[in-house]
Amino acid sequence: MEFTVSEKMQTILEMMKEFVEKELYPLEPEFLRKNFSELEPVLEEKRRMVRQMELWAPLHPKEYGGMGLSLTEYALVAEALGGSPLGLYVFGCQAPDAGNIEILHKYGTEEQKERYLRPLIAGKIRSCFSMTEVELPGSNPTWLATSAVKDGDDYVINGHKWYTSAADGSAFAIVMAETNPEASQHLRASMIIVPIDTPGFNVVRNISVMGHVGDGWHSHAEILYQNCRVPQTNRLGPEGQGFVLAQERLGPGRIHHCMRWIGICNRCFDLMCSYAVKRPIAPGVKMAESPLIKSYIADSAAEILAARLMVLHTAWTIENHGVKAAMKDISLIKFFAADVLQKVVDRALQIHGGLGMTDDTPISYFYRAERAARIYDGVDEVHKISVARRILRAYEGKKA
Ligand SMILES: Cc1cc2nc3c(=O)[nH]c(=O)nc-3n(C[C@H](O)[C@H](O)[C@H](O)COP(=O)(O)OP(=O)(O)OC[C@H]3O[C@@H](n4cnc5c(N)ncnc54)[C@H](O)[C@@H]3O)c2cc1C
Repeated sequence: MEFTVSEKMQTILEMMKEFVEKELYPLEPEFLRKNFSELEPVLEEKRRMVRQMELWAPLHPKEYGGMGLSLTEYALVAEALGGSPLGLYVFGCQAPDAGNIEILHKYGTEEQKERYLRPLIAGKIRSCFSMTEVELPGSNPTWLATSAVKDGDDYVINGHKWYTSAADGSAFAIVMAETNPEASQHLRASMIIVPIDTPGFNVVRNISVMGHVGDGWHSHAEILYQNCRVPQTNRLGPEGQGFVLAQERLGPGRIHHCMRWIGICNRCFDLMCSYAVKRPIAPGVKMAESPLIKSYIADSAAEILAARLMVLHTAWTIENHGVKAAMKDISLIKFFAADVLQKVVDRALQIHGGLGMTDDTPISYFYRAERAARIYDGVDEVHKISVARRILRAYEGKKA
């Protein structure tokens, strides 16, 4: 395994870190107090600066205007950008577009690529991913009630989804719907592109999540698909392969989140250490002198390093041996990194006392927004079961 960072990559990372600190940290108080749409003009200006620096879309293919970095290189980029809630958006590699881009690039027809992929990578449009349903468990995505029934050259889609992140203002959704109800469990659904101005694509509401309704990219919608008709040519990949595509989308997608979380951990760690060395707990005594506080810092340092190395190892495995070979590692880092993230953010908040609860630092935002890390892209329990099953399978064949 080789994690040496090239000189060129080192320069890129330094440029990105400097940009995030100088240009994005100062915008965060506004991000916390305003609607996303109010901030969009200034974010557009920052995106223009990023394009000028030739740092736009680091993960996406060069042929479409991205930087075409490898997954291990992107791990370092997501870490550098993830420390600010605005980092990935401003550099054009934010979820859910990043996962949709990978699927479109791999499975899209030439027509789909020209119409959806190219403007998506260019940042001219946004997209969303509509899989989770209100009535059925999202943790079991092979069980869907949303149907796409063939009618002439079209599919007619009916279903009730929620948590379709960033649907507000998106140009299109990639929807998971059952097209082959008679097939075996893993071969029933397909992914279908639905432009959001299609009649029957009805946004019920932006859901209030942890006290935040949100708008634009920073929101999660509930959607009713009511006789929503799209051409069959909008299907992505072969019919019935939606679950297979979802595994491909969510595999690297989970890694992207984990990498971003390391960035959040680093930011919170930095804030907690800076505060501990300056905040007095008694006349002439700084908080950092307390053994309890030292243990928070030592535990956080060890856990962040462990999670970081696991993430890099998984990225390396995907890059060198493919997603399938890395399935156990992807599940391992998903629940492990989410747990580290929550412990580190919680300690940072604790060390800041009352200040940690305010919106004067980004810690309280991370505390609220990142609780979901243990839920989206696979709940902890399912990943733990999957890891244990893979490990135990090897023992089942062994003699006692
Ligand atoms: C902030 C956020 C953003 C999201 N964005 C998107 C998006 O863009 N697109 C999209 O389609 N979805 C999205 N989701 C939905 C997410 O993928 C689902 O919430 C997730 O898959 C869990 O599904 P569920 O909420 O239906 O919980 P359920 O499946 O009902 O599970 C509830 C709980 O049951 C337990 N449980 C479940 N299965 C098992 C098991 N096998 N063994 C033991 N315990 C179990 C776990 O404790 C779990 O938390 C998002 C969710 C959040 C919170």
